[in-house]
Amino acid sequence: RQRDAYAARFEEGRTQDGHRIEVAANLGNTAHGADAVEHGAEGVGLLRTEFVFMAHADVPDLETQIGEYRQAIDALDGRPLVARTLDVGGDKPLPYWPLPQEDNPFLGLRGIRLALTRPEILETQLRALLTAAGDKPLRIMFPMVKDIAEFRAARLIFERVQEQIRAPDVQLGVMIEVPSCALLAPSLAEEVDFFSIGTNDLTQYTLAIDRGHSELSAQSDGLHPAVLRLIQMTVDAAHARGKWVGVCGELGSDPLAVPVLVGLGVDELSVSVRQVPMVKARLRELTLAEARRHAELALSQATSDAVREALEAL
Ligand code: PEP
Ligand code: MG
Repeated sequence: RQRDAYAARFEEGRTQDGHRIEVAANLGNTAHGADAVEHGAEGVGLLRTEFVFMAHADVPDLETQIGEYRQAIDALDGRPLVARTLDVGGDKPLPYWPLPQEDNPFLGLRGIRLALTRPEILETQLRALLTAAGDKPLRIMFPMVKDIAEFRAARLIFERVQEQIRAPDVQLGVMIEVPSCALLAPSLAEEVDFFSIGTNDLTQYTLAIDRGHSELSAQSDGLHPAVLRLIQMTVDAAHARGKWVGVCGELGSDPLAVPVLVGLGVDELSVSVRQVPMVKARLRELTLAEARRHAELALSQATSDAVREALEAL
């Protein structure tokens, strides 16, 4: 089966009955674009740009960043790339960006909150991304946003840069990783171009379980019905306003979760490079009506164990 999936990896992501789901790759290294294409990725749904920053002894300058982003964009040969702006703090420290000692770094200065304390760094990054893309399809999203005020603050910086360098329009989105954002998705959907659901952090913050906790990891399950409801709210709010929704957390490549996410209406799945052929194969086995039944069944359960048992019994 794995060999068949690999052989068919360049087919578009579609369900058996033709419903289109874009299958993209998550990249943690700008040198891996060609590998993603070779595995059938239809684009990059999450470029984790913090790795560009971690690879240097200081904030990489504009030229260095342009070179890095261009490498990934060029390798995609016209396929879209979604770049996430710098997402550090919490579990991802940067040695040259000392942070205050915090009792709860996961609830502290991280993601967009941290980036907004040093707008000049965000500005340079946005300038580098826009310059590297030229007129190739680039999309930009902000991590760990909690409400529309943070999105607007980041967008203001983006608009300033865009005006200065007269860059073409790009889609701007937010990651849905904090439950507040899923709950407030209707208001955000008025102003963003897309959502990308980061199920790793969304699960962590919904269930109050540290995503890296060694003893609790079995309970930290994105198929928890509470997480699924937040995904449902996000998708419904986005679609009501004509916006698209991706999933870029690990849930997107869980074989039991793929039908559920499709049934909830997700438009794009962005998964690790090696999972792309398998996810496409899973989609081909499935009709949209079946996927909706999986989603309904999952949503009607009370715990993640019950969700998994019910889905496995189908
Ligand atoms: C997520 O939180 O699901 C996500 C995709 O971002 P990261 O894993 O890089 O925090
Ligand atoms: Mg995250």
